[in-house]
Amino acid sequence: MAKLQALFGGTFDPIHYGHLKPVEILANQIGLSRVIIMPNNVPPHRPQPEATSEQRKLMVELAIADKPLFVLDERELRRDTPSFTADTLQEWRAEQGADKPLAFIIGQDSLLTFPSWHRYETILEHVHLLVTRRPGYPLTMQQEEHQDWLDRHLTSNIEDLHNQPAGKIFLAETPWFDVSATLIRERLERGESCDEMMPEPVLNYIMQQGLYHHGA
Ligand code: ATP
Repeated sequence: MAKLQALFGGTFDPIHYGHLKPVEILANQIGLSRVIIMPNNVPPHRPQPEATSEQRKLMVELAIADKPLFVLDERELRRDTPSFTADTLQEWRAEQGADKPLAFIIGQDSLLTFPSWHRYETILEHVHLLVTRRPGYPLTMQQEEHQDWLDRHLTSNIEDLHNQPAGKIFLAETPWFDVSATLIRERLERGESCDEMMPEPVLNYIMQQGLYHHGA
């Protein structure tokens, strides 16, 4: 079987166990050879991250330092302007050649909004979609047309993900991790503990930088 690699995009403001744990479990379940974490360059019309690009990058580096499964890709952060996921994945496919199996990881909440992404249908031409579970979100799409799109691409066969280069959607049975970056930022702002929510070096860095805490 060809080696299956996956890209995992997000704002990571900050990176937390809701990102890392489901993906580590998914990697074991389906045999991912590596997961490339790619922090986004956030478009100007969207709410801006609280941490700078450099800080978001550093927190990812701290989080994955002892986890060989993960590598960091800085390409989006290095760009002056944000790029659409569809374009980034097209570029990645061009770099990797036509035959390698490639995947893009998203949480269940992102699957629900996925059809609103720029040229979303083209994404499955380049990669498979691997979806991790997230508490509080349905597993069915709101619009029938989008549910049809999902049903057309759905597979529960892990071999499909390895034997075909792209085009399948896999709903992984990963455990729920009820944590979000928003919740973490809110808790830190209130001076509440986030000990169990992210790797210790990331939390230490946040404290040392005084991030997400605006003081009284
Ligand atoms: P925010 O609260 O700031 O919106 P977030 O915690 O949702 O942030 P992002 O960086 O926006 O994190 O998410 C990157 C990816 O990780 C998305 O595909 C999202 O669905 C997924 N993800 C984030 N948290 C979880 C979680 N607890 N369980 C499963 N997937 C998650």
